[in-house]
Amino acid sequence: MSAPRVEADLARLHHNAHHLVARLGGRGISVTGVTKAVLGSPEVAATMRAAGIARLGDSRIENIEGMRRAGVPGPFTLIRSPMPSQADRVVASADVSLNTEAAVVRALSAAAVHRAATHMVVLMVELGDLREGILPGDLLEVALLVESLPGVELHGLGTNLACQSGTIPSDRNMAELTDLVGTVERAVGRRLDRVSGGNSANLPWVLGDGAEPGRIDDLRLGEAILLGREPVRRTPIDGLHTDAFTLVGEVIESKRKPTQPWGELGQTAFENQAPGERPGRAPEARPADGRLRTIVALGEQDTDPAGLLPPPGCRVLGASSDHLVLDPGPNDFPVGSEVRFQLGYGALVRAMTSPFVATVWTGAVPGPGAARG
Ligand SMILES: *Cc1c(COP(=O)(O)O)cnc(C)c1O
Repeated sequence: MSAPRVEADLARLHHNAHHLVARLGGRGISVTGVTKAVLGSPEVAATMRAAGIARLGDSRIENIEGMRRAGVPGPFTLIRSPMPSQADRVVASADVSLNTEAAVVRALSAAAVHRAATHMVVLMVELGDLREGILPGDLLEVALLVESLPGVELHGLGTNLACQSGTIPSDRNMAELTDLVGTVERAVGRRLDRVSGGNSANLPWVLGDGAEPGRIDDLRLGEAILLGREPVRRTPIDGLHTDAFTLVGEVIESKRKPTQPWGELGQTAFENQAPGERPGRAPEARPADGRLRTIVALGEQDTDPAGLLPPPGCRVLGASSDHLVLDPGPNDFPVGSEVRFQLGYGALVRAMTSPFVATVWTGAVPGPGAARG
């Protein structure tokens, strides 16, 4: 099989998605399955839908268009505020988009009117993480604008925490979102359809003891389904597989070498360490000690090497664009053999995005009968 490649186990993904749908359903919360880390893969998207995920979300309209072309059942939410230049594509392919700017909503309205369509708008509220969102004090004005525009409908409110500044979802900020729902509903005179409380970082809060979900009825989950972890402390979530994805690389060199470099030392390919900060050795002072070093044909162009978890006993010593240097420990990795790595979120995103990394689907997805629950 070709290397490097990501092996993705659809049965494990199905299990993760189904497990989260069941646990959150018990709290009155449905799941938007987020596919951006896998570039809107139709295989992953269809698996999520088969597992009971209510709808799909992606940050890029290209991915949503691709899923639609592949026949994946929606509905689809664009979870990044649309670029005004893409308003027409957004209205054409996304049922819902998350929004923070009046100018963008106006562009969506114009595009929807042109297409004789209705596009649903969720307004994102800034609750402290300082990424996207309307400040609470400005929310009502934008909500009333959406109400007044043709072609767009105010579908609900949402927020996103943890991604930019690490703000942790809590009873306090989630209660603030519920309060804002009440304020907007009183102003528009009807009930909002969707209150999207956040991403995988909301899980420790919502699955914890005594959490009060209030009006929150949706979470947008990517990492928790794909990697079985919550992003706040990156701890595994009970009952989920953390190894649905594996990155496989091929060994291209295996030699016993001195443990220290020699010659005058300057900067390395991916570090900005100033020359002279590291000890160099004269070639004649080359150390006589030696250890096995394994080079895998993988690098910064394929993944985030810092986000790789190597096999037990093995250590990543460093990486450049296309060489990953390992201390194999007790393992035997001859030239031509394969080394398997578990991935963190950043490593997965980059591997899925690299044109050099193939994706191989494994694991049978249970039939539709098994997806109910
Ligand atoms: C990426 C993203 C998500 C999903 O985040 P995970 O941590 O992968 O669950 C949800 N909402 C928004 C707005 C996002 O950008």
